[in-house]
Amino acid sequence: MAVRFDIITIFPGMFSSVVDESILGRAVKSGLVEIQRVDLRDFTEDRHRSVDDRPYGGGPGMVFKPEPVFDAVESVLGEVGSAADAGVRKIILTPQGRRLDQPLLRELSGESRIVLLCGHYEGLDERIFEGLGFEEVSIGDYVLSGGELPAMVLIDGVVRLLPGALGHPESSEEESFENGILEYPQYTRPSEYRGMKVPEVLLSGNHAEIEQWRRQQALERTRDRRGDLLENRELQEKGAGAG
Ligand code: SAM
Repeated sequence: MAVRFDIITIFPGMFSSVVDESILGRAVKSGLVEIQRVDLRDFTEDRHRSVDDRPYGGGPGMVFKPEPVFDAVESVLGEVGSAADAGVRKIILTPQGRRLDQPLLRELSGESRIVLLCGHYEGLDERIFEGLGFEEVSIGDYVLSGGELPAMVLIDGVVRLLPGALGHPESSEEESFENGILEYPQYTRPSEYRGMKVPEVLLSGNHAEIEQWRRQQALERTRDRRGDLLENRELQEKGAGAG
């Protein structure tokens, strides 16, 4: 199923190289993904095309004004709350939002249309959050200059889950976080490099043993690096058992 993204941003040019290259570039060319960029400055009415203003109450930085943002959103979706925006996933990228993770990416990969709103500078007037009813998504507990890079992260993560985007569909199914654990270590040729050998089992051709080795490695690696993931899994399994 194809997905369409509408990205509302003051820097539409930032998306060019990402959208043209690699897996995403191929997905766009093959029609699996459509990406529309909407320049927020096209919805300003003053000579300087200003989208922001100083914060009430003082303080540093500039804040996105509500008018151009509402107008841009309505140009994409029709009047806020209208039938046209039903069934569309509407997301503001903000460090204060729900943390993006693999289950959320999986969920989004089932959508047919996703609208992304990118903030910049000090952020967005609070009435944008209140009045538009967008969900808020963060890519992690750190602050970037704008929502453009987070939007690209989200798009890339969604697109590689679309059937047909990767050469081998199972590539994404076995990856880290898909089953709540990290992926096993990978090797390619040569079988020995600078004294470091590829584990014997991987050269054996015994698929059952290889699978068992990989599963064990994935679990050990997850325990060593991300014990929190295993704890979450145990809690979920207990929850499922209790229910
Ligand atoms: N003043 C805001 C705060 O303290 O919450 C941060 C504003 S940030 C400098 C500017 C814009 O970058 C945000 O409006 C958002 O669109 C984007 N942004 C920054 N960090 C982000 C993150 N971790 N996840 C998603 N978007 C982020």
